[in-house]
Amino acid sequence: MQILHVSPSSPVFDKTLHYFQAVFSATSAYLKARFPNHEVVTEAAGLTGAPERVIVRHLARKPDFLVLWARVWEAPAARQLAELAREISPATRILVWGESLVYIPHYFQREPFDVVVLSGDPERVLADAIERLAQGLDPEHGVSFRWGHDWHDTSPGRTLEGAEWPFPDLAAIDPVGYHTARLHREKRTDDLSFTISRGCPINCAAWCPTPRKEGVKDRRRPVEQTVEYLARGPEPYQLFQLHSPLLVQDRLWIAELIARKAQVCPQVPFKSVDLVNPYAEEALVAELARVGLKGIGFGIETLCADRSRRLTPKVDERLLEQVAAHFARYGVEGKAYTQLGLPGQSREDVLYTHRLLLDLGFVPRPTGATPFQRLRSKSLQELDAMDLTRWDRKSYYDPRSGLSHAEFLQIITSPRGFAPEVSPWAA
Ligand code: SF4
Repeated sequence: MQILHVSPSSPVFDKTLHYFQAVFSATSAYLKARFPNHEVVTEAAGLTGAPERVIVRHLARKPDFLVLWARVWEAPAARQLAELAREISPATRILVWGESLVYIPHYFQREPFDVVVLSGDPERVLADAIERLAQGLDPEHGVSFRWGHDWHDTSPGRTLEGAEWPFPDLAAIDPVGYHTARLHREKRTDDLSFTISRGCPINCAAWCPTPRKEGVKDRRRPVEQTVEYLARGPEPYQLFQLHSPLLVQDRLWIAELIARKAQVCPQVPFKSVDLVNPYAEEALVAELARVGLKGIGFGIETLCADRSRRLTPKVDERLLEQVAAHFARYGVEGKAYTQLGLPGQSREDVLYTHRLLLDLGFVPRPTGATPFQRLRSKSLQELDAMDLTRWDRKSYYDPRSGLSHAEFLQIITSPRGFAPEVSPWAA
């Protein structure tokens, strides 16, 4: 049996390559572990920028299963590839999973797709579905599957214990290709990302896929296993990314991690993502920095130039000042995620937020505000008529941000150099 796991060819300028690399390559690793006596071929074309023909080469071998991973902007590329696969190898069963399924599962519930993953931990749901299909049985959980022209939903998807979560398959992504891609994005390090927690109990935003795909319960990989993996070092990468929506949400877990890492590999560098609030505690920042923390990314979304108002409930300037002081003292880089084009946000708000973050020493990481949740209610005909390829966070421009398109492109591409008053990009 051959399983072909593919990220369809659809290169975009996304700065979170390491995060998507973690998700995609870990699923490859899980499929390999579940089917040790079968061939699992991985082609990360959407991550490395490889053209579609690279995938066609694999299709010519007529795999038994084609597993497509599709983010929203890749949905048309996934569909095109699935149609090509059906033409080249009619007997290949086509499964699809990924973030697009959170918002537009109906886009895929049609020929030539056979199975779409709807819930559960996707690597387990995929592997269980493949196992059943290979035996001539219907999938049991976490999917919608095709039966002639009809689609059937199974029971909700099952999850894995944290100890069973896969680590990235290092063979799934070419580190040289990854290095080149991050240079294009002006990022400073090559990061090796692996999952240490899933689920977000905060559930603060309809556009955010995390609670929808991972659930609202914070689940964790065991500390011992996490530290063991860290101790191997990030090579050929330079830094670990502990992939998690909320690094310190589980305070017992983080205390145990700090204690164990201090014993085993205190110098191994890592970064992660979290809310900003916990880092107002200086002792926490100091402890984490002592065991290798180099950076934290956190969502600001936007501040309001009129300081008597708030556009989002997340943070205020006083908190940011405290956190900035702690990060500066302990050598931790703070990366502040902001959004452009949020409801009620003005050009002044965008510029004020950006300036303040730079002045405080944070690295601003702006993205277009992508209202993915609005896609859910679109009909198939409407989705087909839309340009879904622009629904990525680095391309989605909404003029209500008050920025010109040229300014949007500049602030997204080179946030640190963005100064609209002197910018040659300004309209
Ligand atoms: S934005 Fe962050 S805190 Fe809010 S739901 Fe998403 S992962 Fe959770």
